[in-house]
Amino acid sequence: MLRVAVVGSGPSGVYAAQALVQQQAVPEVSVHVLDRLPCPYGLVRYGVAPDHEKIKSLQNTLRAVLEHPRVSFLGNVHVGPPPLVPRRLLGLYHAVVYCVGAATDRRLGVPGEELPGSCSATEFVSWYSAHPDAPGDTFALGARSAVVIGVGNVAVDVARVLARGAEELRPTDVPHLALGALADSRVTDVHMVGRRGPSQAKFTTKELRELGSLTGADVLVRDDELALDPAYRDPSGLPAAGRRNVEVLRDWARREPMGRPRRIQLRFFLRPAALLGESAVRAVRFERTAPDGRGGVAGTGVFEDIDAQLVLRSVGYRGVPLPGLPFDERRGTVPNAAGRVLRGGVPAPGEYVAGWIKRGPTGVIGTNRPCAKETVASLLADAGVLAARPVAEDPLAALRAAGVEPVEWTGWLRIEAAEAALGEALGRTRVKIPDWAELLGAARAED
Ligand SMILES: Cc1cc2nc3c(=O)[nH]c(=O)nc-3n(C[C@H](O)[C@H](O)[C@H](O)COP(=O)(O)OP(=O)(O)OC[C@H]3O[C@@H](n4cnc5c(N)ncnc54)[C@H](O)[C@@H]3O)c2cc1C
Repeated sequence: MLRVAVVGSGPSGVYAAQALVQQQAVPEVSVHVLDRLPCPYGLVRYGVAPDHEKIKSLQNTLRAVLEHPRVSFLGNVHVGPPPLVPRRLLGLYHAVVYCVGAATDRRLGVPGEELPGSCSATEFVSWYSAHPDAPGDTFALGARSAVVIGVGNVAVDVARVLARGAEELRPTDVPHLALGALADSRVTDVHMVGRRGPSQAKFTTKELRELGSLTGADVLVRDDELALDPAYRDPSGLPAAGRRNVEVLRDWARREPMGRPRRIQLRFFLRPAALLGESAVRAVRFERTAPDGRGGVAGTGVFEDIDAQLVLRSVGYRGVPLPGLPFDERRGTVPNAAGRVLRGGVPAPGEYVAGWIKRGPTGVIGTNRPCAKETVASLLADAGVLAARPVAEDPLAALRAAGVEPVEWTGWLRIEAAEAALGEALGRTRVKIPDWAELLGAARAED
């Protein structure tokens, strides 16, 4: 029997577990999927926007893997800090696959970034996704004007959630306090700002188009600003996705605003120079940029201030070092060769990585599948050596003996039932529980 621990139950962890139990090369494999949270699915539960039900429903596919007879979910198990340092885990399992994602946001590195009212899109997403580590009700939704810095899909998600009325989010699983705060929100203007041109924006056309279909918000773009981008004027050389984005923006530039209660303004060629304000943010100062002729942009020395009492930074994610595992500070990933963790440049027996912590925070959910398969192929190629490693007879008992109290699958099912009951009590569908004590209480409740 080859015993494998997968650390992280997001897409890459679950796809790794699936590849391990579906393969035929090594007949007897059992997989424990450990997660520091009592709930599975990583960013599919705690990142994908609540109004994207179809993508959210991927949880059902991941669920089938976690219910496989040779797979066990063990939540509330934090790997890294003592007692569960990586070395200890290696004494319990023949192999450990780290699939811990890229949990933190990149900084802007401009003055004023720490002012109240300024936060990362990660914090905002965690808040409306009911992540138990999310800050409470700290969002400045009394703001009238919000600036979202960044033009990727996450930026589009947070802009859309701000611009959607709470009524539209009510049928989703958004936690109740967040729904109430969004219902009381006074935000009328959301500015989504990129430092480069529209042809280089990272959002996908589907996400972009969705902004135009919001019933309560006008989308505004400035033709003269878009036209600063040579590829906007002549998109023929762009990849298909870029051309489609340009078409959508061109269409919006021709539209007259309908006088809807909220406005989403898409701005380009502006890079943040400072957040302004004394006790809280009141505006963002941007420097106008221009194409530098080499695919990048350069500052022009011309500045523009945009009023904002709420600023959400969405300029990318970054892995965080896991104590006891090597870490490439520059790339924000664990150094690896085809998924084998490298210690001092040499593969470390029994240690593997997959997903965002392996390749960086890029790609869609499906990208994690081939990524995890590659890692599992490396692991299986090493299986002979791994199986010879002495490990604990009963890793779950060993975890408990180390003082860890895992939430098993039945505990997760109780959390699901508690969320369904909460939704019913509130006259909504299932509503997520946002705090640690309640989640653990629900997981451990007697039937
Ligand atoms: C806001 C946001 C929205 C997104 N929306 C979409 C979308 O609509 N469509 C799409 O295709 N892609 C989307 N993505 C991308 C997608 O979510 C990622 O590709 C995917 O989740 C990465 O998978 P992962 O398993 O590497 O990491 P994650 O999903 O982050 O999973 C990592 C897991 O590891 C656990 N973990 C972390 N540290 C430890 C530890 N020390 N011990 C134990 N467990 C640990 C975490 O709790 C988590 O469950 C979105 C990403 C973000 C950030």
